[in-house]
Amino acid sequence: MRTFSKLYLAFIIGIFLTACQPAPKEQKLSLFVFGTLVDVTLWGVDKQTAEQAVKDIETDLKFMHFAWHAWQPGPLGRVNELLSLAGEFSANPALLDIIAKSQQLANNSEHLFNPAIGHLIALWGYNSDDPPKGPPPDEKRIKKLLAKNPRMDDISIDHVRMKNKNAAVKLDLGAIAKGYALDRVVNNIKTLGVKNAIINAGGDIKAIGKHGDRNWHIGIRHPRKEGVLAGISLQDGESIFTSGDYERFYEHEGIRYHHIIDGRTGYPAQGVQSITVIHPDAATADAAATALFIAGVKDWHRIAKKMGIKYAMLIDTNGNIHLNPAMQKRLEFKDKNQQMNISAPL
Ligand code: ADP
Ligand code: MG
Repeated sequence: MRTFSKLYLAFIIGIFLTACQPAPKEQKLSLFVFGTLVDVTLWGVDKQTAEQAVKDIETDLKFMHFAWHAWQPGPLGRVNELLSLAGEFSANPALLDIIAKSQQLANNSEHLFNPAIGHLIALWGYNSDDPPKGPPPDEKRIKKLLAKNPRMDDISIDHVRMKNKNAAVKLDLGAIAKGYALDRVVNNIKTLGVKNAIINAGGDIKAIGKHGDRNWHIGIRHPRKEGVLAGISLQDGESIFTSGDYERFYEHEGIRYHHIIDGRTGYPAQGVQSITVIHPDAATADAAATALFIAGVKDWHRIAKKMGIKYAMLIDTNGNIHLNPAMQKRLEFKDKNQQMNISAPL
């Protein structure tokens, strides 16, 4: 055979082999969206589906981030302007479902998860990309906002019409948006044919299917030390969310003022360093992590039960670990002699 046709044949065989090559089993990609690094890992999908899935995830997360942003101009900003007039108006449809879901979760959490306290959150300075530096706001201003008692049930929704009876309501969806968004993008990639995936949005995670022949396995970070506190395997469809006092905070005269505000006192919730919860619905897991953080050691079991949370771990301000028995069975602590308090809900 002439050299030219040999080369040609080798070229054709090369193309054929490339085309027949299976896609790598695991495909990973990182995106920066929702103000955080989002790691997407897909298992066992062809390249084309993987590309479509990642493209959709990025587009959808960007859209939701824009629609629900608490301080940049956009649909939520406009709804907040209209809410401040305390009347009736047509709301941007991108807001309706997440607001309705937030109302439900606020009710189930005895309003510890209370996204209507946007004015308080802003007063503490947590409505900006740059972390606030303190000092803490004036107590009189906090008390003034508390007296107006903004709550999710001040709002009622009738299809696209929204009614608000309390001008002090300002929505901040920071404690649910990421969870709700993960539910949406995971539902979408399932329709594309993705069966096995894990999406990690800055430590808040939703997983479907498996990683080959084993479950997806992840680490829960220590609220005060570098590295992982415990590992856990996730079941198909589970979400695991953590709220911590280390995410956004400043210190003033030796006191830590973080971004999870107790709507009953007007101050950052006391007594907890972090709380981790598992639930199939990521929006529920997200809101519950915030609510249980505020509930604290005394009330977390009651609120967990009301919100349908079966697995939770709380680390109090002294660094003591509190677990319910179901969660304890699942966690693999890095320190095999880890001390912990195991207690069941009443
Ligand atoms: P992270 O954003 O660190 O994952 P969370 O899910 O707990 O933590 O959300 C905290 C954010 O939720 C705050 O930055 C604020 O925007 C908002 N938030 C603070 N306190 C409350 C509250 N009591 N109810 C609802 N949202 C809150
Ligand atoms: Mg949350």
